[in-house]
Amino acid sequence: MIRFHNTLSGKVESFEPIEPGSVKLYTCGPTVYDFPHIGNWRAYVFEDLLKRFLIFSGYKVTHVMNLTDVDDKTIRGAGAKGLSLEEYTRPFIEAFDRERDILNILPANHYPRATEHIREMVEIIQILLDKTFAYRKDGSIYFAIAKFPAYGRLSKVNLEDLRPGSRGDADEYEKDSVHDFALWKAPKEGEPVWETEIGPGRPGWHVECSAMSSKYLGRTFDIHCGGVDNIFPHHENEIAQSEAANGVKFVNYWLHCHHLVVDGEKMAKSKGNFYTLADILAKGYDPYDVRYLLISTHYRKMLNFTFDALEQAKAARSRLGNFFGALKDVTRESDGIQDIRPLVEAARAGFVAGLEDDLNISESLASLFSLVKIIYPLVTQGAISRRQTQPVLEFFFSIDEVLAIKPSPVRSASGKITGFSSVEGKATAGEEQYADVEGRLESEIQKKIEARQKARSEKDFNLADEIREELLSQGILLEDTKDGVRWKKIIPPGT
Ligand code: AMP
Ligand code: ZN
Repeated sequence: MIRFHNTLSGKVESFEPIEPGSVKLYTCGPTVYDFPHIGNWRAYVFEDLLKRFLIFSGYKVTHVMNLTDVDDKTIRGAGAKGLSLEEYTRPFIEAFDRERDILNILPANHYPRATEHIREMVEIIQILLDKTFAYRKDGSIYFAIAKFPAYGRLSKVNLEDLRPGSRGDADEYEKDSVHDFALWKAPKEGEPVWETEIGPGRPGWHVECSAMSSKYLGRTFDIHCGGVDNIFPHHENEIAQSEAANGVKFVNYWLHCHHLVVDGEKMAKSKGNFYTLADILAKGYDPYDVRYLLISTHYRKMLNFTFDALEQAKAARSRLGNFFGALKDVTRESDGIQDIRPLVEAARAGFVAGLEDDLNISESLASLFSLVKIIYPLVTQGAISRRQTQPVLEFFFSIDEVLAIKPSPVRSASGKITGFSSVEGKATAGEEQYADVEGRLESEIQKKIEARQKARSEKDFNLADEIREELLSQGILLEDTKDGVRWKKIIPPGT
C-alpha cells in the first residue's frame, strides 16, 4: 500500500485514487521568464520520481503541467526587451523541454499554456462573480477570501489579522500579507490585454492552474505537486478558486518538495545564487549524476547543493554502473552454489517498501546497495554463472524505470570492466559496503604498477601509458615521485 504525506492534513495517508488503477496528477510548471535553475529541477525530478513509481506500481498516470507564459515576471521581461510574450518566452520553453529530456524526465500528457486558456479562466472568474466569491474594483476582479471559510487550511496561514477588503495585485506575496488576490487585472500601459466577456484585462497567476487542471483532469483529481514555496499563496488560492466555483473538493493529495538551497538559502533567480543545468554540464558532469543527486535526498528534506555532494552522487552512481558492467561481463557457464533469486527478491521488496513509504528513497537505495554488497564479491570471485546474473540484471533494469539514472560502467582502455571506482574520504550511500573489495583492488593496482614499471624499463612507453590510462579510468591516478610510484584515488574522468 502506497502512503504519501499530504500537506492538507499534515499526515502520512494511504493513497487511494479516485478511479482504481489510474492517477490524475497536476504539477505546477515553470514561469517561463528565464532559464530553469536546478532548484526548479529538484521539484520536477521529484515529481518524475513520484510519477515513475506510480507507473511502476501499475497505475496509468495522466499528468498535466502548466506553462506560465503570462504573469508579472514574463510581462516585465518581455517589456524590457521590447518583445511580445510569445517571442520572449519561446527560448525558455525550448530550454525547459530540452533540459527535461536531458534529465530523463518523462514528458507530461499536456503542457497547457496560460495564454492559450484565457477563455477557460474567464469562465471560472464569471462563475465566481455570479456566486459572489469575486468582486470588481477599478477594472480588476478580486477573490474575496472572507467568503471562503476554508481559506488557510492548506498553508495554515493565520487569518486573524486579515483586514476585510484588503487587496493586492502582485502575483506573489508573503504569508504575513494575506489579502484578496487578483483573478483578473485591469488593462495597464505596456501590458497585454484580452477583450473578454468579463471586460478587458489579463489574468492573475493563480487562476490558470484552477482553469487548466479542471479542463484536463476534471474538477476533483488525485495529486497536486509543487515546491513548498507554492503552498502559499499559490496553492491556497487555487483551492479557494476551484472549490468556490465548482462546489466540490479540488484535490485529494497535496505533495510538496522542500527547497534546494545554497549555503542555507533557497536557490532563486531573484537571489542570484543559482546554477542552471547548463552551468553544471559545462563543468563536465553527467546529467544522470545531477539526477541522482536530486532524487537521493528525500523530497521533504532540504537539499543543500554543493559540488562535493555532486561528486558523491557521481561516485555512488559509478559504483552501480561498474557493478552492472561487471555482471554483464560474467561468462561462467556452470551455476555457483549461492542461490541468487531470494537475494534479488529481498532487494526488490526493500526497494518497493521504501518508495511506498512516502517515497523514502534512502531506504530504497540502501536495499539496492545491500544487494550490490553481497553479489559483487561473488561476481569478482567468478562464483556465479551468466545465467545467475539474469535476475540481478532484470532487477537493475526494472528499478531503473523508476530511478532513471542509467548506471553505466567505467570501462578500461581495453573495454574490460575491472572493478569499482572509489572516492577517498567521501561517505556516500553504501560506501562502507565496498571495504571488502578494497584489499583485493589494492593488490591488483600494485600488480599493474609493477607491469607499468616493467614496460617503462623495456622502453615500451605505449604499454606503460595504456596501463596508466586503464588505472585512471578506474579512478586510480599514478604519480611518479622521487621515492617511486604513488597512487591515489580520484573520481574517474568521463563517468
Ligand atoms: P517557478 O518557475 O518559480 O514558478 O517554479 C517552478 C517550480 O519550481 C515550482 O514548483 C517551485 O516550487 C519550484 N522551485 C522553485 N525554486 C525552487 C528551489 N530552490 N528548490 C526546489 N523547488 C523550487
Ligand atoms: Zn500552479
